[in-house]
Amino acid sequence: MSKEIKKFKTESKQLLNLMINSIYTNKEIFLRELISNASDAIDKYHLLSLSDEKLEKTNDYEIHIEVDKKKRKITISDNGIGMTHDELIDNIGTIAKSGTLEFLKTIKSKDLKESDLIGQFGVGFYSAFMISKKVEVITKSAYSDTAFIWSSKGEEEFTIEETEKDSRGTEITLYLRKNEDDENYDDFIEDYKVIALVKKYSNYVKYPITMEREKTVSRLDADGKEIENEYDTVIEVETLNQMVPIWKKNKKEVEQKELNEFYRSQYYDYNDPMFTIWSDIEGMLTYKSIIFIPNKAPQNLYSDKYEKGLQLYAKGVFVMDKCKQLVPDYLRFIKGLVVSPDLNLNISREVLQHNRQLDKIQKNLEKKIINELEKTLKNDREKYQEFWNEFGVNIKYGVYDNFGANKDLLKDILLFKTANNDKSVTLKEYIENMPKDQKDIYYGSAHTKVSLLASPQMDVLKSKGYDVLVLTDEIDEFMIQILNEYDKKHFKSINQGDLDIIDDKEKEEVKILETEKVDLLTKIKETLNDDVDEVKLSTRLTDSPVCLVSGEGLSFEMEKVISKMPGDKEMKAKKILEINPQHEIFKAIEKVYENNPESIEDYANLLYNQALLIEGLEIKDPVKFSNMMVKVLIKAANLGDANGNDSKTD
Ligand code: ADP
Repeated sequence: MSKEIKKFKTESKQLLNLMINSIYTNKEIFLRELISNASDAIDKYHLLSLSDEKLEKTNDYEIHIEVDKKKRKITISDNGIGMTHDELIDNIGTIAKSGTLEFLKTIKSKDLKESDLIGQFGVGFYSAFMISKKVEVITKSAYSDTAFIWSSKGEEEFTIEETEKDSRGTEITLYLRKNEDDENYDDFIEDYKVIALVKKYSNYVKYPITMEREKTVSRLDADGKEIENEYDTVIEVETLNQMVPIWKKNKKEVEQKELNEFYRSQYYDYNDPMFTIWSDIEGMLTYKSIIFIPNKAPQNLYSDKYEKGLQLYAKGVFVMDKCKQLVPDYLRFIKGLVVSPDLNLNISREVLQHNRQLDKIQKNLEKKIINELEKTLKNDREKYQEFWNEFGVNIKYGVYDNFGANKDLLKDILLFKTANNDKSVTLKEYIENMPKDQKDIYYGSAHTKVSLLASPQMDVLKSKGYDVLVLTDEIDEFMIQILNEYDKKHFKSINQGDLDIIDDKEKEEVKILETEKVDLLTKIKETLNDDVDEVKLSTRLTDSPVCLVSGEGLSFEMEKVISKMPGDKEMKAKKILEINPQHEIFKAIEKVYENNPESIEDYANLLYNQALLIEGLEIKDPVKFSNMMVKVLIKAANLGDANGNDSKTD
């Protein structure tokens, strides 16, 4: 048969063009693609040989890589099924999957992150042209005595011709392109690079991937002893891939030690993982997964640069390093891998379905991880506390995220510091310890537990013996708002709204007093003007003179957090100044108001600023505040009391 010259089909041509102009910057995947094809071809042969008498039965399979530096070429050969003349034309001259090009075009036009998508789906044989100026395929089908050579420069056409080949299988030779200004292809003919690529992408392909390597060994004398300082160069065939991946082993036979080593080497951590969670799922969707929770949160976990994701393998072939879709945002700290034979490696029209599969796996993994955490919380509180210290914030974020879609899953693994306990408690434990007359779950926001304990709003809760959840993280109040209730008990902020703690009689008394003192309260409110929204007598204070609380809804803490975020900063919490009617200061103000109503302005401002300070909020004009305080102090010293008689001091 003479040499045939054939034109590529239009679609193939366009795809080639895209490839050659390298829409995909990650050129190195060519090797993964060619090795995967070789492995598939061996699979095919093996399966057919089991039922076909004509095919020799063997277990002698191999994928061999040869690097020729001088000629700048790489050859990848296999002893798989091979291709006949027509198969060569059908499989390699055409793109079998007609959706491929469409898909590539859409990602190009939408300017999506091509690298992710192509890396994920693979582009098959054509990826060879990303690094080659010419590709040759020599192949002999297991069903034919004739071998063929296919050759193309990736331009308009390809040629096919008969050739000689001893045994079945395929041999693909890539002639590397010349280096250009910003593209260097030389790397790909370096042994170390090829080895690294095999280990990175194809370590767990189930057939040996071999390569000849030059080794220097000591020369031996006649007795077989090493001669000092004399060496020989020998060529050894080395198997580059590990083949039996850890997840292929029987789960029961793998010791934690081995898993720890695997974790440390794969995910570059010095520490062993805190948790290892291994799932082996068979059914509608078959997959294995090994998830690790690190011992320490990675330094950059909360930066934009951190990339979440799990390694994804399909049929032993590495598909991608950070499959984001498998990890909900709040579990971004997990590491590990998922292996599923159900996932299609190739770009296909089933992209959507593909996504659904990943989504399902994600949901399963999420549940599995939370279950494991729940178990630990029950059985090993100390370990759970360690986990919580490192990653608790993420779990809280998980409650808040997605409008609380996960709150039921997560609410029982939340831990809280509380005012009365040294150890953190779960919401369930908090409720179990509530005094009989307590109706709600109380919480307070502060920078630290110490400052919350000292805050005036704690007065009444202390007196009642109620415990208070101490919220110190920015996310906390947002999470509590989304949670809304636990076990039919509502959350109540001690810094917000009406506490509704004291009994009706006391409440009534305060109401009456408030009506009596309405002029005084109105005057204070007028003085403070827009600084506060309301001035009232407090039902929550016992020892402290004043406090500032926010209305229902947005709290001061939330206001602070929101003010740090980009965008709408106009959201403000409602400020209510509460004055303790039982406190000496209230009587003092009453007196001042009676004797010298003008001085009430200083008192109002002082009380307000004091409340700001206690709340950890900023005072608008510290100098003015300080001067005012000095003025009042001097006045008090001069008069021996604080009856507000003006004696000019400034
Ligand atoms: P895919 O592998 O996704 O089907 P490729 O473009 O990589 O797409 O390959 C196209 C087809 O060429 C394969 O489906 C297979 O039939 C054939 N092929 C590629 N490489 C080999 C090989 N080493 N041995 C036998 N057939 C091969």
